Amino acid sequence: MSSPTLTIDLQALIANWRALDAMTTCETAAVVKADAYGLGLGRVSKALAGAGVRHFFVAQANEGVELRKVLGPGPRISVFSGHMAGDAGLLGANDLTPMLNSVDQMLRHVESLPGHRFGIQLDTGMNRLGMEPGEWVALRDIAVAQKPVLVMSHLACGDQPDHPMNAHQLNSFKEMSGELDVPLSLSATAGILLGKDYHFSLTRPGIGLYGGLPFGAAQPVVTLDVPVIQIRELEPGETVGYGNTWVATRPSRIATLGAGYADGLIRAMGGGARVFADDVACPLVGRVSMDMLGVDVTELTEDPTHMSILGPQQSVDDLAREAGTIGYEILTSLGPRYARLYRE
Ligand SMILES: *Cc1c(COP(=O)(O)O)cnc(C)c1O
Repeated sequence: MSSPTLTIDLQALIANWRALDAMTTCETAAVVKADAYGLGLGRVSKALAGAGVRHFFVAQANEGVELRKVLGPGPRISVFSGHMAGDAGLLGANDLTPMLNSVDQMLRHVESLPGHRFGIQLDTGMNRLGMEPGEWVALRDIAVAQKPVLVMSHLACGDQPDHPMNAHQLNSFKEMSGELDVPLSLSATAGILLGKDYHFSLTRPGIGLYGGLPFGAAQPVVTLDVPVIQIRELEPGETVGYGNTWVATRPSRIATLGAGYADGLIRAMGGGARVFADDVACPLVGRVSMDMLGVDVTELTEDPTHMSILGPQQSVDDLAREAGTIGYEILTSLGPRYARLYRE
């Protein structure tokens, strides 16, 4: 194996969707924006559709066009950014359902695609996307007369179960959507875990499908193995990598691995991250380069030919913690250079 290899376990992905689906009595969609969180829109979506997912969400109309090619007619594809200027043709031709987020989008939609299916996004406090309470009061009756297929909002602090923002947004969503005879959706992965008050008619998990927190019971979906290019002996006092940031304090064996920050192994993960030879953890040493990183393998009894960075020993969230970020960012940064192996 000469190139680093990302293995994506589609059975684990499906098991995660089923586990999240089993926590509710409502419909469970799948969020596959950003190339299915970096894991491959086509393979991931096909596997999920095969397991029974009938409703997919993407961020942009262009992603919806790609997804429609993969899925063919049938499954619903909804677009979080709504109906942007110039998108009417794409939305219409590919049967995409925009989640309208403003009066302007509503007008654009009914003028350019009259009768075309749409949903509505309400802002319950995150101040990111959606109609605000004042705007919604003015538009509500007109919008409802056009028969939206979904009314949704999004939690800002769902991954902190005790945060008062959750109850605040839940109340605000209930007030804004009260007495509507329309399917409702409030929760992504985190909201599913908050319990049935948050489930409504449809949930929209993303990260939990891909094995990330806050779904702690998720099965790991990605493994990342990187080949060793070279191993060298260092005397005490010798240094490794740019900036001489790591200095050997004992006779050391240093392996140079063939992946770096251009592959999403961001420089910020620095000293705390570990790299595994089977189950033995070895510390990352020195700065991560664009295509390489150094690992102290002094403790190993045999020279490894490749080492594991993501897998059962170290999750995307473990790595994220070392880099001061979140699993979502690690996954979506992995990039196109890996050989990808899909385990069916
Ligand atoms: C990304 C996103 C989701 C999925 O969120 P996860 O935390 O990955 O489950 C759901 N809804 C909206 C509006 C989103 O932007």
